[in-house]
Amino acid sequence: MNNSLLSKPLHKKVALITGSTSGIGKGIAESLANHGCDVIINGFGDQEEIKKLCADIAMTYSVRAEFVGADLSKVPEIEDLHEAILKLFPEGLDILVNNAGIQHLSPVESFPVEKWDFMISLMLSAPFHLTRLFLPYMKQKGWGRIINISSAHGHVASPNKCAYVSAKHGLIGLTKTVAVEVAGSGVTCNAICPGYVETPLFLKQAADRSKDQGISFEQAKSQIVGIHSSKEPVKIEQVGEIAAFLCSPAADQILGTSIMVDGGWTIK
Ligand code: NAD
Repeated sequence: MNNSLLSKPLHKKVALITGSTSGIGKGIAESLANHGCDVIINGFGDQEEIKKLCADIAMTYSVRAEFVGADLSKVPEIEDLHEAILKLFPEGLDILVNNAGIQHLSPVESFPVEKWDFMISLMLSAPFHLTRLFLPYMKQKGWGRIINISSAHGHVASPNKCAYVSAKHGLIGLTKTVAVEVAGSGVTCNAICPGYVETPLFLKQAADRSKDQGISFEQAKSQIVGIHSSKEPVKIEQVGEIAAFLCSPAADQILGTSIMVDGGWTIK
């Protein structure tokens, strides 16, 4: 074992980052791996690309990087993922990052019912199920971190996003409840609330807006990010490093909070 690895603060910790085949989740997995953490990648995507992602992370950061797939909108698949993780890491997780999510825009009266059910299952119920399944291992070890990726939309609403806004507000409620339940056990639970981050989810919204409004892709991006006081998007790596900060000893007493990373959107 080389000394530089031993000196990394998250060496020997095991993190599951849901939805880490892309975007913010992938960025968080890379940041945690850079701090020495073994990471479990989850999400959809081309199997060869996912294999390469795990190999690249393992090689670049000298950590274990395993893929465990599951459609997290389905409880039996979440339970299977729990079992699969225990086979790989019998002592369970130290860090759980609930990140997987999607967006769908539609007015409430025509919002597809199956989309509502899917989004609430994926973005609110899955964090509940993963927390109930993995928290006991963290309590047993006397240390753990649960990080919920909510959104600025966990605090404010925008039209046509009823399922997203409801799930993200609900996730803040789950975060606070778990935080008060685990307080004093060595485990913490917090939310990170990004504004617009340049990921495939954001780029799809920009593409849809460009098509709907007959404007260029760049104009659509600037219009969306214009809601930030800074007029600048958040960088994926910035969210990743905030997640790593929440895993540091400096954050031992941060409980149930929402860290706003929204370019000054929601302070207006
Ligand atoms: P993304 O589309 O790049 O990545 C989403 C990830 O979730 C992918 O890995 C995908 O495979 C996975 N996923 C989707 N459905 C899944 C399912 N049923 N089961 C398991 N995995 C599934 O999106 P992103 O922008 O990186 O978003 C990640 C999280 O950050 C989401 O919860 C999103 O709401 C939140 N967020 C994003 C932004 C933004 O501007 N991009 C802003 C605030 C919050």
